[in-house]
Amino acid sequence: MDFRYSEDDEAFRREFRAWLEANVPRGWRDDAELADPDTKEEFERRRAWHRKLYDAGWMCIHWPKEFGGRGATLMQQFIYHQELDRIKAPPTVNFQGLARVGPTLMQWGTPEQKRRYIPRIPPAEEIWCQGLSEPNHGSDLAAVQTRAVDHGDHFIVNGSKVWTSNAHHADYSTLLCRTDPSAPKHRGLSYLLVDLKSPGVTIRPLIQITGEHGFNQVFYEDVAVPKENLVGKVNEGWMVAITNMMFERTIHGGRTDMMVEVRQIADAARQVTRDGRPAIEDDYVRDAIAAFACEAEALKYASLRQLTRQLRGLPPGPEGSMMKLCTSDLNLRIQKFAMELLGPYAQFEYRASGAIDHGKWSHRMLAARRGTIAAGTNEIQHNIIGERVLGLPKG
Ligand SMILES: Cc1cc2nc3c(=O)[nH]c(=O)nc-3n(C[C@H](O)[C@H](O)[C@H](O)COP(=O)(O)OP(=O)(O)OC[C@H]3O[C@@H](n4cnc5c(N)ncnc54)[C@H](O)[C@@H]3O)c2cc1C
Repeated sequence: MDFRYSEDDEAFRREFRAWLEANVPRGWRDDAELADPDTKEEFERRRAWHRKLYDAGWMCIHWPKEFGGRGATLMQQFIYHQELDRIKAPPTVNFQGLARVGPTLMQWGTPEQKRRYIPRIPPAEEIWCQGLSEPNHGSDLAAVQTRAVDHGDHFIVNGSKVWTSNAHHADYSTLLCRTDPSAPKHRGLSYLLVDLKSPGVTIRPLIQITGEHGFNQVFYEDVAVPKENLVGKVNEGWMVAITNMMFERTIHGGRTDMMVEVRQIADAARQVTRDGRPAIEDDYVRDAIAAFACEAEALKYASLRQLTRQLRGLPPGPEGSMMKLCTSDLNLRIQKFAMELLGPYAQFEYRASGAIDHGKWSHRMLAARRGTIAAGTNEIQHNIIGERVLGLPKG
């Protein structure tokens, strides 16, 4: 591993940092977490910030120029995320579109699909969600039951998708559905693009334990989907879905610098007392925070190793599953420790007046489980590591 940055990379960093310093809206750096992302007002505020990045050429920088990116190198992407983290930039929108749908269409879309859909993703003109999981099929995704029946120039879709993040803001959804129920389960699937304004689509909110909306159940009742919205070949949608999931896990792993979280818990330990002294002076608290810091550093180097492999043109390797597993697990343990550290203060609700750090720790505790489930549960990541990395027999 070479830890030096080239002069070109340093120039890239200076340029982006200067742009951020001049353009991140003042007063919005620290309160982004506090705003309710489900309100239309907050969504549009984020979309306006997203658009500002896009207009200046700072959105989906790794995408090829022909699709609205700037063809940035892997190292530039790494620096880009470091700088966004450093300045605590507000969130953007259209995550599923940018991270999953766009790249999947670049690989599998017809020329017409690429022309029609991809250019509207980076500016967030059209918002996307992804319809994979169903009420009875999440980990075992190839068992999906939502049916699409061939009606000549269109399919008629019936079924339901669940945990669909952002469907309440979205214009379109990807849809993995069964087109041949008699074929083995991986072979009878197709991957469609569905206009959520189509007659027969109903989006119902699912409220999370945090009180946030976040995701939905989406019902499809006799929904007509034109044949030109089929991605890849009919009954070969599993390959398209695999591409989609590959982007999903890559994105979930490796990007989060857990030291940010560790520094914040250390700050919280300065605000509360233990046996009459600031908790940060207590040996037990110091030991716990130091152990978290060691893990966070180890994760940082594991993610750099992944980056080095990619820079050398090697396939991603096992680090994707490992990073997803370890990052979400460390996060969960930090939040549990925060509850112990804050004691009675941990009961303050998010945004409650008088709460330490605006009550964000109780909110993060409630939210921490979702990281261990989304994009393939941690048990499934254990299976992947056990079977494909360690060569253990199938469980
Ligand atoms: C925050 C969040 C956002 C999400 N967003 C989306 C979205 O936008 N679109 C979408 O399609 N889905 C989305 N999901 C759904 C997510 O992909 C599924 O929840 C996940 O894949 C697990 O599927 P499941 O919920 O059906 O659980 P199940 O598959 O029913 O699993 C139940 C339990 O059994 C365990 N288990 C299952 N199979 C095995 C096995 N073979 N070995 C060991 N243990 C096993 C699991 O680990 C889990 O603990 C989201 C989920 C979350 C939490």
